[in-house]
Amino acid sequence: MMVDEVIDLLERIALVDDRVVRADEAEQEAQVAMWAAVLRDVPLQFAGEAVGRHYAESAWPIMPKDIATRWRDQVRNRVGRSLGTFEPTDHPHLDPDDTVGYVRALRERHEAIAGGDSQPVAVAELMPAVGSTLGGGRIAELVPANDEFRTAKATRFPRRERPAGPPERAVHCPACGASPGRPCRTTHRNREMTGTHPSRRDVYDAAQTADSKGDES
Ligand SMILES: [Zn+2]
Repeated sequence: MMVDEVIDLLERIALVDDRVVRADEAEQEAQVAMWAAVLRDVPLQFAGEAVGRHYAESAWPIMPKDIATRWRDQVRNRVGRSLGTFEPTDHPHLDPDDTVGYVRALRERHEAIAGGDSQPVAVAELMPAVGSTLGGGRIAELVPANDEFRTAKATRFPRRERPAGPPERAVHCPACGASPGRPCRTTHRNREMTGTHPSRRDVYDAAQTADSKGDES
């Protein structure tokens, strides 16, 4: 799930359980970042269904590990691959500047475990192996569609349009300084651009050319 999807999921959870989503705005941001890290490889639809199953079986507030565990079990059952390790560099959608929020989220998680509020689960145990992903970094295994969930979600939370960016986003933009993977921003009003700066396309083209030439030069 991407950050936007985690926010959608937390909005849905808040409708059925007001104990889960943090009230404080800063804490909410840390919470979203942590959920996004833990649930990186979990499709939104699977997460929504896992929430439903959790509350059918448990009176405890749902935690990301509850969803990740169900996903891990499913991946293990269907794909039968071994588990990988957790590396911050594997999580490009985490805001690299929000280290404070991220560390605090991890610390809170650690304290919750130390205090006995939850069972210790190593993050690495929750993450499916990189080897089990194909294209786009997503798990190749598809979850059967659930139209009821999609319809309900579309009605309550109209999806924020987020078209896949142009390929030049893979490289740093020399014009506006956008990091790889991030959209260009207009230099005057700092607004997200759907396109990219021409110089970024040049850098991208040059990189492609260099790649295709290999070690010849
Ligand atoms: Zn740019």
